[in-house]
Amino acid sequence: MPTYDATVVTKTKSAGGMILGKTAQDEFGFGTFSDTCAYAVPKNPIDPERTCGGSSGGAGCLAAAADFPHIAIAESTGGSITAPAAFTGTVGLTPTYGRVSRYGLIDYSNSMDKIGVISRKVYDSALMLSVISGHDPLDSTSSRAESGDFTAYVGKSVKGIRIGIPKEYFSDVDRKVSKPVEDALGRLEGMGAKTVDISLPRTKYAIAAYYIVAMGEASTNLARYCGMRYGAQEKIDGEFSEYFSSIRSKYFGEEAKRRIILGTYVRAAGFRDAYYTKALKVRGLLIKEFKEAFAKVDVLATPSMPILPPRFDEIESMSPLDKYNIDKMTTAPNLCGFPTISVPAGKVDGLPVGLQLIADHFHEGELISVASAFEGDSD
Ligand code: GLN
Repeated sequence: MPTYDATVVTKTKSAGGMILGKTAQDEFGFGTFSDTCAYAVPKNPIDPERTCGGSSGGAGCLAAAADFPHIAIAESTGGSITAPAAFTGTVGLTPTYGRVSRYGLIDYSNSMDKIGVISRKVYDSALMLSVISGHDPLDSTSSRAESGDFTAYVGKSVKGIRIGIPKEYFSDVDRKVSKPVEDALGRLEGMGAKTVDISLPRTKYAIAAYYIVAMGEASTNLARYCGMRYGAQEKIDGEFSEYFSSIRSKYFGEEAKRRIILGTYVRAAGFRDAYYTKALKVRGLLIKEFKEAFAKVDVLATPSMPILPPRFDEIESMSPLDKYNIDKMTTAPNLCGFPTISVPAGKVDGLPVGLQLIADHFHEGELISVASAFEGDSD
């Protein structure tokens, strides 16, 4: 039970919205399939044997299944809005880092966490971003960039818009996923957009750099859950350190424990330069590489996820590393703080496929224009 409202909740209420409740997510946002939820695991409304993605899986599930007007608030650190949007056939808008206040959001990885939106239609995501964005003195990382009415970008012509196609994002992807995305790009060309071949060779380091930074930050953020002020509490028995260890061992999920151990390792004395500091340097190089691309194109287009929504039995046979590797489309833009949108690009074998668009910092407008033009054409 929260003791105060997050800024996005306050803003939603004051714009006339109703907060219905909480939706399921992977514990602390650690996951891609909502299979590490502390409570119930949300099932994909299209096929309940399949995941609806994660970590904001419940948000995607409800956005897809609600039979009443609904817009979901969701969170992304490394792809947790794009993954559920792609797997449930909904729209997922991940804003630029700092565009939306994080006040009231439980920290996973502070340098990457973002609050965004999942909805049925691009217009609803644009509307909600207009409501929740803007500077907030309660969040020191909140940006002073101009926000305004993002619905003004809905339905704008894409004539002359340059869409970069980074070749690295189309190799090693299930053909069932890349084919509809290529068709989608063909349709956008038909509307007057220009496609440009791009190469982003450093993105092959994005998953490793992302997980080092994310786990390093997560391990410090979870230190507060020691059974004193935050998290589960029991009667203190024995030394404080014994009590802290026993409560953390008992109540953290397996994935949280894995991340605490790996995150502590990568920033420990003697290892820090080899892992954490190096990952920060990779992040700097990636930002540079993407910025060079954005000098040539307005948006970049990739598949949202490299696979169709997997079944839970398929997920069970994946190793933690296999699961982390599924984030290959989303880790680079999230590590660099760029905004993205995932929009449905059709169905294969009855399962949804997403088109992901990435823009330069604070260029959500272009994402909304291209996604809405594409969505209008698909109706
Ligand atoms: N799958 C990624 C992770 O586990 C992203 C999660 C997120 O964006 N919260 O870290």
